[in-house]
Amino acid sequence: MSNVSTNSTGSSSVRGRGRVVGVPKRCWCGEAIVALTSKSDPNPYRRYFRCGFAAANRLRNDEHTFKWVDEALVNEIETLTSKNAGLEQQLKELRTESLEFEKMVCEKVLMKMENELLEKVEDALAESNARNKKILIVVLIGCMIMIGCSKLLG
Ligand SMILES: [Zn+2]
Repeated sequence: MSNVSTNSTGSSSVRGRGRVVGVPKRCWCGEAIVALTSKSDPNPYRRYFRCGFAAANRLRNDEHTFKWVDEALVNEIETLTSKNAGLEQQLKELRTESLEFEKMVCEKVLMKMENELLEKVEDALAESNARNKKILIVVLIGCMIMIGCSKLLG
């Protein structure tokens, strides 16, 4: 078994800094996440998410959740983008499916029309004499081809 690491935020195996993807909902310790503003010199006024417990106890160099808000948002956007790509793919597949469905319905309608025409041809043939048969067949086949073409092109 290979050790597959997931980026799931809901996983209890997610521990330590920077391991959480996106906006953290809850620290691994169970404490809610709070949004704070940094007052440090390298990152003045930079917003960050912090474990509520660690923030209340002013912990330092601990393993509780810490994540810059801007980095979390970039993660969220990246996740959304990949989700969007998936949706687009699904939409494409749906469109292809519906197109095939339309084609199928169109073909069925055409088949039905052709069958009805054939019945009419047979009726007409039964009534007409031998000399008119050939002309009738040619005309009706021509009709069928024209209807078929206009249906397929339309
Ligand atoms: Zn915590």
